[in-house]
Amino acid sequence: MRESVLVVGSGLVGASTAYFAAREGINVTLLEQEERAYGASGRNPGFVWLHCRNPGWALDVSLAGRALYDELKEDLPVPFEFRAEGGLIYFTDERQAPVFEQFVEARRKDGLEMSLIDNAEVRKLVGPIRKDVLGASFCASDAQIKTPTVVNALVEGALAEGATVHEGVEVTRLIASDGRVIGVETADGGTHMADTVVIATGAWTEKLMAANDVDARVGRERLQVIATKPLPRQIKPVVYGPLTAKQYALFRHLPAWDENAFITEEERRTGSWQLSLVAQRADGEMLFGCPMDYPADVDMTTSVSGLRSVLQYIERDFPGLAGAPIDRVWAGVLPFTSDMVPIVDEVMPGLIVAAGHVFGNSSGPMTGKLVSQMLCDRTPEMDMSELRYNRPLDPIVPGRIVHW
Ligand SMILES: Cc1cc2nc3c(=O)[nH]c(=O)nc-3n(C[C@H](O)[C@H](O)[C@H](O)COP(=O)(O)OP(=O)(O)OC[C@H]3O[C@@H](n4cnc5c(N)ncnc54)[C@H](O)[C@@H]3O)c2cc1C
Repeated sequence: MRESVLVVGSGLVGASTAYFAAREGINVTLLEQEERAYGASGRNPGFVWLHCRNPGWALDVSLAGRALYDELKEDLPVPFEFRAEGGLIYFTDERQAPVFEQFVEARRKDGLEMSLIDNAEVRKLVGPIRKDVLGASFCASDAQIKTPTVVNALVEGALAEGATVHEGVEVTRLIASDGRVIGVETADGGTHMADTVVIATGAWTEKLMAANDVDARVGRERLQVIATKPLPRQIKPVVYGPLTAKQYALFRHLPAWDENAFITEEERRTGSWQLSLVAQRADGEMLFGCPMDYPADVDMTTSVSGLRSVLQYIERDFPGLAGAPIDRVWAGVLPFTSDMVPIVDEVMPGLIVAAGHVFGNSSGPMTGKLVSQMLCDRTPEMDMSELRYNRPLDPIVPGRIVHW
């Protein structure tokens, strides 16, 4: 068992690692360059999305991660927002219907509780949706979190277990001795030493690791979000629109798949695809999203064309929300690898990389638990072989569309 650990990055992965490692009795220091949940974990709309998780590690960790929230609700010292009202992907075009029929059938075979629901059922769950919606795939196990509240509760949990947390401290370099990582240097000139360093820096990982001669192929995908002021509760599940289907290999591999039925002219022209989505938080705030693109560096600015495409989508598919008052807009950068499975491995003695989580809401807290088991020299409770560092991964090419 390692006696001391430095965890770099306070998103879902780092905060969870700090919490579970401190609970094991390890001396933990968490270092975050800005403030907790500054990265993707503070900027996502909170889908705990089992619906489209590929069989294998992705689905297994998501099922385990979904169940872990029940434990965290009991164990963490402060509450977080979690709602279990399912999730759906609706469709509006006759050409899309056979694809959804095949999708639901395939998902049931994978062991997911999934159904195809009709117009009336969709409209009961999603009040403001267009009246001519044809149906939806519905997964009762999907849920929603207010992600920054989860990160905050994990950090408070780590503090309560004796961890030290430094916010506003940027790690710039690893310190190594005799082929082993033994600490880090920070931008303010400080150093921190420990038995092991865990890099949980999401979309920042590739650059930080390259500066230390470690090749970590973790890409950057920017997504933009619009939030309204609180509105009366009218949407229960988390909701994806049909354009989202083409992002997922699970849809693209179906015999009935026809991309022409799932892409707009604008998406074709600009190469910026939409992860069309709507969700409503417990306080009534609505979240609309998300155009996607692939910047060369972490870029958290919003763009006129990106936000316009979201608003056009909302006006078209949610006429009941055309007058909704906008409160704020933001962008976040999602990390990914070419096979859509994160890297979670000890890449050299004393250095664990835990990064590249595309669906961190279901896999992030569970990753922290697994890393804490590695730090205690126990066999992790899940098979981690898909996540090893040395597997073949394609290089990251800025601008190139990726499918999940
Ligand atoms: C708009 C958007 C929508 C999304 N929607 C969903 C969704 O609905 N469901 C889902 O499961 N996932 C979703 N995701 C993905 C999800 O947010 C990520 O999988 C998850 O947040 C990754 O967590 P992380 O801890 O690895 O990274 P992050 O949350 O990005 O945390 C990394 C942290 O490291 C810090 N850091 C970086 N470099 C340094 C350094 N040198 N020194 C110190 N600290 C550093 C950063 O400031 C940051 O706080 C979405 C992402 C975005 C952006």
